[in-house]
Amino acid sequence: MKKIYLDNAATTAVLPEVAQTMFEVLTHTYGNPSSTHSFGREAKVQVETARKAIAKHIHAQATEIIFTSCGTEGDNWVLQAAVNDLKVTRIVTTKLEHHAVLHTLAVLQLKNPELEVVYLPVNSLGEIAYSDLETVLSSSSAKTLVSLMHVNNEIGTVLDLVQVGAICKAYQAYFHSDTVQAIGKTNIDVQAANLDFLVASAHKFHGPKGVGFVYVKKNTIIQPLLHGGEQEKGFRAGTEAVHQIVGMAKALDLAYANLGAQQQAVTAVKNYAISAFKKAFPAVAFNGGENGFYNILNVRLPLSVDKTAMILFYLDMKGIAVSRGSACQSGSIKPSHVLAEILDANALQVPSLRLSFSHENTPEDIDALIEAIQSM
Ligand code: PLP
Repeated sequence: MKKIYLDNAATTAVLPEVAQTMFEVLTHTYGNPSSTHSFGREAKVQVETARKAIAKHIHAQATEIIFTSCGTEGDNWVLQAAVNDLKVTRIVTTKLEHHAVLHTLAVLQLKNPELEVVYLPVNSLGEIAYSDLETVLSSSSAKTLVSLMHVNNEIGTVLDLVQVGAICKAYQAYFHSDTVQAIGKTNIDVQAANLDFLVASAHKFHGPKGVGFVYVKKNTIIQPLLHGGEQEKGFRAGTEAVHQIVGMAKALDLAYANLGAQQQAVTAVKNYAISAFKKAFPAVAFNGGENGFYNILNVRLPLSVDKTAMILFYLDMKGIAVSRGSACQSGSIKPSHVLAEILDANALQVPSLRLSFSHENTPEDIDALIEAIQSM
């Protein structure tokens, strides 16, 4: 049975060139970057070369890139540091953020009852009104962090980073964006977007799991999440995972080298999926609309409610991997928190599938998916 992977927002396949690069580091560059002998120095060079390459892709300076273990760590660190170290007393966000943001905010509010969290309203496409952000920021002079994701991982809603950055600048608010779903798939310029913090994770752009990075704007004084050694200039203790870091930089290099071609190929697959679903199921709807980010399509199927519980399991039996909402929730009977914000009770009952494409997908994958759904 040919297996079909349509769950690239959950994670992506590591590119062979990335795996090869990592293998070389694992087998040859095994020194500890903190060691002063040649083994250590060699590892240190690899880490710093990776840092420079990553920084260049997002128009940052190398010293502004801090390596982490994942996107979740990055979001936790930034939000905790904003409250504990930068002394923000208000955070502006939406209920469509990833749980790495929402659950961290819930814990921060428990520990800091004075912390105000403002959830901006979203429309049926998951979009905020930029004027709402301005209204909130102009309503009080509380020290504020705006935390808004670049691309929503379930419905693909895209935030205009440059526009939000300009608003944050006008009202002197810090700006954090979880760009986990966007980085490597679209160009990001931290300066044009006036970002203070950006969070990324390698496994979403065909790099390894267990590594990510945070961009922290120069001269932002925050404390580390983990205490210990002086790695990462004291921003993040723990021996650097050299192979992971080098693999992440390689994956980002390849992502940006092939960006145009990949965008075109993936967009073609998404467009094919939209037409094919409309043809096969004329009453189909797309949660978040058709025009969200080019690799995500959240399909609401006009099928009976009793199919909802079984559909993922059924498709899995046919070798087809898709997701209901975000990966962490698959198998859970709770509706996705994102869909719960934008859909009414009836729409929430019928099966919705999140499809997320990569350059490896083809129209035949979509045909096989539709055929499988029709055979349910
Ligand atoms: N933020 C977003 C938008 C995500 O999609 C994910 C992963 O699904 C994360 C954060 C967490 O990233 P990681 O899996 O690297 O912890």
